[in-house]
Amino acid sequence: MTNALLRRRILVCDDETGVIEAYRRILSDLVEGASAQAEVTLDALAADLFGDEQTPAINGTGIDEIVYCRQGDEAVAVFGEAAGKGEPFAAVFVDVRMPPGFDGVEAARRMRALDPAINIVMVTGYSDHRPAEIAGAIGAQDRLFYLVKPFDADEVRQMATTLVHRWTSDMRAAAELTGRLQELEKVNRALQVSEASAHRAARRDPLTGLLNRKGLQEAFDAAMSEASKADGKLFFAYIDLDRFKMVNDVHGHAVGDLFICNVGDRIVRATGQDGFVARLGGDEFAVVITEGEELDSVLNRVLRVGDIPFAEAGSELPVSLSIGYCRCDVVGGGLSDAMRRADLALYSAKAAGRGTARGYDKSLDDEFLRSQVIACDLKAAIENSGLQLHYQPLMSADGCKVTGLEALLRWTHPEHGDVSPAVFISIAEQNNMMIELGDWVLRQAMRDIRSWPDIITSINLSAVQFSQPCFAEKVIQLARAADISPSLIEFEITETALCGNMFDFAQQVEKLCDAGFKLALDDFGSGYAGIGYLSQLRFNKLKIDQSFVSNLRIEPNAERIIRSLVGLGEAMGLTVTAEGVEEVFQHELLRAAGCDQMQGFLFHRPCSREDVKQLLDRQRSADRAA
Ligand code: C2E
Ligand code: MG
Ligand code: MG
Repeated sequence: MTNALLRRRILVCDDETGVIEAYRRILSDLVEGASAQAEVTLDALAADLFGDEQTPAINGTGIDEIVYCRQGDEAVAVFGEAAGKGEPFAAVFVDVRMPPGFDGVEAARRMRALDPAINIVMVTGYSDHRPAEIAGAIGAQDRLFYLVKPFDADEVRQMATTLVHRWTSDMRAAAELTGRLQELEKVNRALQVSEASAHRAARRDPLTGLLNRKGLQEAFDAAMSEASKADGKLFFAYIDLDRFKMVNDVHGHAVGDLFICNVGDRIVRATGQDGFVARLGGDEFAVVITEGEELDSVLNRVLRVGDIPFAEAGSELPVSLSIGYCRCDVVGGGLSDAMRRADLALYSAKAAGRGTARGYDKSLDDEFLRSQVIACDLKAAIENSGLQLHYQPLMSADGCKVTGLEALLRWTHPEHGDVSPAVFISIAEQNNMMIELGDWVLRQAMRDIRSWPDIITSINLSAVQFSQPCFAEKVIQLARAADISPSLIEFEITETALCGNMFDFAQQVEKLCDAGFKLALDDFGSGYAGIGYLSQLRFNKLKIDQSFVSNLRIEPNAERIIRSLVGLGEAMGLTVTAEGVEEVFQHELLRAAGCDQMQGFLFHRPCSREDVKQLLDRQRSADRAA
């Protein structure tokens, strides 16, 4: 409220000149400039009259202006004009009788209509209207007062001051209220804004700004009901970045985050208007394809997201995506069912070599069920000694002498016969059995190794085993309990194991190496491990993946690749072993390329502990004879 609005003005309306003069005399010393003492007294009087102890102090309790009118219509006009300008009167004194125009009651009634809060003093003679009639005509009795003529000067002054005082307080209170209301409105608006942003934040992934799981659920439900109304086809696709962990491990999390954001952007662009994208965790994205007819082109565009390498961290980061998808509108099981199906399809896409899209079909569910049955049987086999450990000899470069052994798991299923470890190990990994299975292998191998204390035995380790917080300590303890020197054991880890949490992994490996165990990198060249890993961990040996060996004669570059892998191993002072040697020409070529050790069916297949013992006994006798 501005000061202009707080100008304290009184309107006096009386047709008699004498009475007007009397008002002037009585009120003149109240017009601004009145003594402070008088004001205090009047304030006290006001409080007395209205019992209003709460009335706030008013600075300068005088009256700013008194306007005099002689007729009711004139007073109403002046009053209306003031109200229109936003300068309302604090109080009006109206004579009830004012011939020839309309009387004071009518004038007061009209003024009340213009400003319902106006304090009106009706000045009456004893013979005029009765108060009840006046009140009935004017209304708002709490703002209606009476002054009986002939009036007493003090009474007029007291009334004028008190009403001005009350009006000022009312105006201030109203202004304060308006201010508070405005403040409240502001707070309310801010709340609405923050509620909207909280609503948005709860549905968005903070890193990429894409929908999160909750946001996806809502958008999916909406798209589903849209599709069912329009008879449309809706597809759900899971997208997984192949080997994203390696980006994080090698380049750090900041680069990893940037990479994820850029991949997200590219997926959004690839999806375009044909659907929407969500990020469900680490490197997992989902696309809901709302334009079912466009399925193939969306999938192709998304698969091509990795065509241009990412240039984060000053180096090029290659990326490929695997996609598993399913049609949602035909199953009707909602998002969770779509996710389950797309997940099965994704798993199969990854198994098929990554960088591909695979749609869900019923056979995947059957496969999944089969793997669950196998998982169950495997658990029983672990618990009931249904597994065996075989050993495959590793030969000297000339293929004549056993220089090492590799422990390989064997499982003969009561119905399905021999199950490949390549199959059941991954089932064990997916079904939380790998630690138990790995422990069994470690214990069994350490027992067996005591039979050939002069030869190094390799034991394969799964990345899952390293997820145990004290894995290294456990292994050291097992060797101690079996009374085996760690120097007799070499652990083989694959490149994929290096794609997990590199820091924890490196710490565990370091402890094992410190304890005297040896370390080999298995299936080298099949994964994406950079040379960086080779220098970070204390490897003794590289085992060249058997695919390179089997490609000799088929793939023109195979020999050249093998030579460079051997060269790399030599340069790093590592023993180089060739796996999967089946033919003489392969052996000759590998030997010429500089491989130190040979492993393959050409020399020996994996065999039982007893067979190994006999083989080694024969070798020892031959050595002695030579
Ligand atoms: P790997 O560690 O690379 O083991 C070598 C695999 O090559 C073995 O397959 C072996 O039988 C096979 N092999 C050896 N020479 C030849 C050859 O001349 N030609 C062909 N075609 N194959 C040959 P296997 O026993 O089926 O094991 C497959 C994989 O399962 C192993 O590959 C290893 O990754 C895993 N595995 C086996 N036992 C264990 C274990 O105790 N623990 C863990 N974590 N993994 C194991
Ligand atoms: Mg191996
Ligand atoms: Mg291997």
